[in-house]
This record gives sequence, structure tokens and C-alpha cells, in this order.
Amino acid sequence: MVTQGELAPVRNHPPATATVEDYLVVLYVWERDGRPAHASLLATQIGVSQPTAGATIKRMVRDGWVIVEEHKVLRLTAQGRQKARSVIRRHFIIERLLRDILGVPWSRLHQEAHALEHVISEETLMLMEEKLHHPGTCPHGNPMPGNEMAVAQWIRLIDMKAGQQGVIRRIHELAEDTPDLMSFLEQRALMPGATITILEVQTFNQTMTVIVNGAQVVLGLAMAQSIFAQTALMER
Ligand SMILES: [Zn+2]
Ligand SMILES: [Zn+2]
Repeated sequence: MVTQGELAPVRNHPPATATVEDYLVVLYVWERDGRPAHASLLATQIGVSQPTAGATIKRMVRDGWVIVEEHKVLRLTAQGRQKARSVIRRHFIIERLLRDILGVPWSRLHQEAHALEHVISEETLMLMEEKLHHPGTCPHGNPMPGNEMAVAQWIRLIDMKAGQQGVIRRIHELAEDTPDLMSFLEQRALMPGATITILEVQTFNQTMTVIVNGAQVVLGLAMAQSIFAQTALMER
């Protein structure tokens, strides 16, 4: 009798752990956005120490998920990229289910989905995707891998000028990781679908004042980098 091991002499890379999946997602998003992926930045984004990130990256290199280029810049391998896309798809579909079917508060979706995304089976996921009519974005407006063009026209608030109007469409993936920020946005109804007008940009103060659904809100410029709107001009 032939055992499984004998049938597969070329062993596949080990399955990605939840930690590895998290790293892969950040690297994928940076690559998509054209940002260089430095190992040191990865530690900050994930919220771990440099040595911890270093040890994980070492394992990821060993297992074929990433390669380290000059100046410690990380690059996804084809297998790493494919894995990241599948994790993001899982995450977004779970967020959609939690929001559209179960009505979970918008600011909590990311954390809840994050806990579930590593364990759900592909079969269940496909059923969910069907039930949700194959959504193109997550409830925060981020594009499903392969659907990037659908969001390409939306511009960041930081690139809008005083007096300009638009409709909020997207809060960047990596901002979803900050629960306080998401609660702040939800409390002020600064979510996809909200109408926004830029009132004033105070560069000296690193803030901008906007009107959202008729109420005045002051935003830090760093936050304004993560929020995207469809401007009135583009809607025509
Ligand atoms: Zn999320
Ligand atoms: Zn999301």
C-alpha cells in the first residue's frame, strides 16, 4: 500500500499560520499601493517588536512566502501573493456577512472578521460569497483582490481642496486595524455613503475641517490619507 507521504515526495510548503497570514496581507496591500515593504515598517504596522517581526520574516523566507531584497525590502513570492489574496477575500466576505446579514456595528466588523478569517472553510466561504452576490468591496469600501479598478477613481481627502464636495466611499484597509479610529468615524457617520464637503485645510495644524452629513468634523491629515471619496465631478 502506498502512503500519502510516498505519493507526495515533493513536500508542499508548510501551511501559513494566522501570524504569517497577517504579515502577508500587509505586504500585499503595500505592494498594491506601491509602497516599499521594509521589515522595520512591518513590525510597526503589525504592532510587534523588531526581533519578533524579524523571527517571523525569517520563517516566511524559509517557507517560501517572501524574499528579502537589498536594504531589507521584502517582496512576496507568487505563492505569498496568492495566499494573501485568498486571506483578503475571506476577510472581506466575512465582514460583508457580519454587516449585511447580521448587522454587526461597522466599527467592529474588522476585529470580528479577523478572528474568524483563519478558520473558515473554503466550502462555507463559497456559500457565503454566493449569498452575498459576490461583493466587489468590503463594508469599508476596500477592493476585493482583482477588483482594484473599481476603486481607482476615488481620491483621498488629503488630495481634496477647500470647497470640494464628494461622497465617502472607502476607509483604507490598514486604518481598519485601529479600533479607536474606526469608532471615531462611526460615531460621526463618516462612513461609505456619507456626503462630505471640505471646509478648510489647516496645514500648519495638520488638520482639515469637513462637513459630514451636515455636521462639522475636524480630522488629522494623517487620517485624511486613509479616507477616500468620490468627488462630485467624477459622478457625472
Ligand atoms: Zn477588515
Ligand atoms: Zn473592511
